[in-house]
Amino acid sequence: MTQRVPAGTPTEMLIDGGWCSGSQGRFTVLDPSTGEPIADVPRAGTDDLVRAVAAAHAAQPGWAATAPRERGEVLRRAFELMTSRREQLAYLMSLEMGKSLTDARGEVTYAAEFFRWFSEEAVRIDGTLRTAPSGANRILTFRKPVGVALLLTPWNFPAAMATRKIGPALAAGCSVVLKPAEDTPLTALVLASILAEAGAPAGVVNVVTTDRPGELVEAALRDERVRKLSFTGSTGVGRLLLRQAADRIVNSSMELGGNAPFIVLDDADLDAAVEGAMLAKMRNGGQACTAANRFLVQEPVVEQFARKLSVAMAALRLGPGTDEQTQLGPMINSKQRDGVAAKVEATVSSGARAVTGAVVPDRPGFYYEATVVTDVARDSELATDEIFGPVAPIITVADENDAIAFANDTEMGLTAYVYSGSLTRGLRVCERLEVGMVGLNRGLVSDPAAPFGGVKQSGLGREGGYEGIDAYLETTYVATSW
Ligand code: NAD
Repeated sequence: MTQRVPAGTPTEMLIDGGWCSGSQGRFTVLDPSTGEPIADVPRAGTDDLVRAVAAAHAAQPGWAATAPRERGEVLRRAFELMTSRREQLAYLMSLEMGKSLTDARGEVTYAAEFFRWFSEEAVRIDGTLRTAPSGANRILTFRKPVGVALLLTPWNFPAAMATRKIGPALAAGCSVVLKPAEDTPLTALVLASILAEAGAPAGVVNVVTTDRPGELVEAALRDERVRKLSFTGSTGVGRLLLRQAADRIVNSSMELGGNAPFIVLDDADLDAAVEGAMLAKMRNGGQACTAANRFLVQEPVVEQFARKLSVAMAALRLGPGTDEQTQLGPMINSKQRDGVAAKVEATVSSGARAVTGAVVPDRPGFYYEATVVTDVARDSELATDEIFGPVAPIITVADENDAIAFANDTEMGLTAYVYSGSLTRGLRVCERLEVGMVGLNRGLVSDPAAPFGGVKQSGLGREGGYEGIDAYLETTYVATSW
């Protein structure tokens, strides 16, 4: 083993307030910058999962009955603990996921903010009183927690995708069973220990780890005590889970894949557009659901934009995430890296031009160089598929209408970016894009106070913002008259 996880990092699962091993042995977590093992964690069996669900089910009524202010205080303390341990958490995330320390520190701040935001929302769960249009009766509504929530998270934002679900679930009075991605279970275990330290009672937060998620999740969705599924991950797995959830009509939220267009119109400030592009494309090494996937640039400025973007991309320093100098870390694993390399090769062999990058560096770990590809055909893999890596394909568009038509010509609808010197023109384009979120003259949309989510096959529901807690609440209405 080259590097070990920092001392004190939990490597057991948390069920019913106790740290425990799993019934199916253990699996190894790798450092993507070397491919070497850094730790091993329990492989849960369905028996472990049933214990976690039972613990969550037993703890949920008490948690729901806990004063909203007290639920909020637990989240608030968790925010403070995360913030005070930002460096340790950032280092651990860089180590297990590969992202640069700059990205990891940013993620800790972003992730902790979900705990603070929902600590504030816990005390604002309200109802309504209405008069029926007939005048004959009153309509009284109030809101109750859904119950036990199963939370499934991806590897690309190991902290934020978990806190974006745990925060609103706990604020609403739900208990949770979190199953983190197999590539990055350690961050989730640290979050569990922080929540326990912050005062979450035994059974309210349970974390089970496995590298064989299919069987475990299917069993959880069959368990009648599980009332909520919140999933962030690929559209393919989301579709499968929705089918499984259908059998028991499990309340489901889905944050799925994207294929974000990054539209640069001819009146855009090109330096600002390149700066935004670097953020939208390269945050997390391109491994973000919000990542700019297709650069749709208006013909008069395409050459200049491509040149400026290539210079910025070629200047990025590649290295292990945990190295302070690194700007672009490795990709998560060899499968993802090879998939990205294959898409670039296929697109280049069909006539596109790699201006910079397109190289798998000759070094250990799962690296891919920052890449810009121009003259990309609209039906090539780089334009139609979610890339999920450090590759920027540039496609020339004739005008605003052409950009919008091609931007919308996909089953995905998570994020888009628009750069224009005219606010009215920019807003006009934003309104016509079939997506859940748009960055207008800005390369970053994620904000704990904003409703995050997609349309079409990019998802169901919203996380964060005022809306985020809705996913964990049901409405009951009382008809009465006086
Ligand atoms: P993934 O779908 O492979 O895995 C996500 C989670 O599902 C993991 O916890 C994994 O263990 C679990 N899983 C995998 N197969 C399963 C199965 N058969 N049954 C039950 N659970 C299963 O996705 P990933 O590779 O971890 O993440 C990348 C994808 O996530 C990308 O498509 C990205 O766009 C998407 N994503 C979306 C958002 C969003 O908010 N919309 C955020 C981050 C990532």
